[in-house]
Amino acid sequence: MLRREKKLEKEIALRRINLLLGKAQEIKFEDYELARRYVELARKIAMRYRVRIPKELRLYCKKCGYPYRHDRLRVRVSKSRVIITCLNCGFVRRVPIRPKRQKEIKNK
Ligand SMILES: [Zn+2]
Repeated sequence: MLRREKKLEKEIALRRINLLLGKAQEIKFEDYELARRYVELARKIAMRYRVRIPKELRLYCKKCGYPYRHDRLRVRVSKSRVIITCLNCGFVRRVPIRPKRQKEIKNK
């Protein structure tokens, strides 16, 4: 039986996820469907190899998989959280804002 090089597999998986999500961002204004497909693939790879998608790359809707696009998205700040509503499926995501470690929400 072949020994699986899990560490290497994960590394490659992460590289592919990076690539796919980068492409999704590049293409989302030209071909939204294709961009969604890229996101889908990236998520499948992440699941298959059990890698976490880096926070800064999670620029898509968890429910429908469409990448965030300023015209398909509503961002509101309320109390100590940012509320992101996906206008494709209506999924609402609440991101708490932690004091000191404030993260910028990119919504391009
Ligand atoms: Zn959605």
